[in-house]
Amino acid sequence: MAEPLPSPPVEPFELSGGELCLDFANTWGDRGRPATERLATYDDLLAFAHAAGYLSDPHLEALRGRAMAHPPRAAAALRRALDLREALYRLFSSQARGRAAAAADLNQLNDRLGAALAHLRVESREGAFDWVWSGVPEHLDAPLWPILRSAADLLTSPRRNWVRECDGAQCTWLFLDLSRAHSRRWCSMASCGNRAKARRHHQRKSA
Ligand SMILES: [Zn+2]
Repeated sequence: MAEPLPSPPVEPFELSGGELCLDFANTWGDRGRPATERLATYDDLLAFAHAAGYLSDPHLEALRGRAMAHPPRAAAALRRALDLREALYRLFSSQARGRAAAAADLNQLNDRLGAALAHLRVESREGAFDWVWSGVPEHLDAPLWPILRSAADLLTSPRRNWVRECDGAQCTWLFLDLSRAHSRRWCSMASCGNRAKARRHHQRKSA
């Protein structure tokens, strides 16, 4: 029997935004380059939710099975996810630049927030109480629910003032700047920070 071909290496999701909603927005790393899109399929959305730690193994399998049984519905759920992601990107990018939020983007958040929060329940577990999302395996949109809550929480918290967008020329990464002076400019010094430094160095030398 032939050895199965090794599957191509999959880059892990980089969860460096500091909030779930920002990590989700960062699943498209640079809006000028389609190649940096990480959510090409509904399964990619499930992989993100699982990597971000809020979708359990059994729920991942249940939603994967539902998507395989209803491909057009899964494709529609992915489109809704991408619409939401771009609305959140615009909302937080505007926030980072000190610009007003677009009413249409805020409306999309509010319209979908209501449907998501209807699935929140308080359950008792081992003597304590906890927020629990109910009905996850039956809803292809369930991976978006915690993201909607995260976005609403961040927008209504003073932490929204620390949302930044990377200064890198080829990067639309959003992050929470939790540095002491709130002066962080790049998603990471290793990638965009060093590129910007090298470019300035080159410009000085050629000037
Ligand atoms: Zn960057």
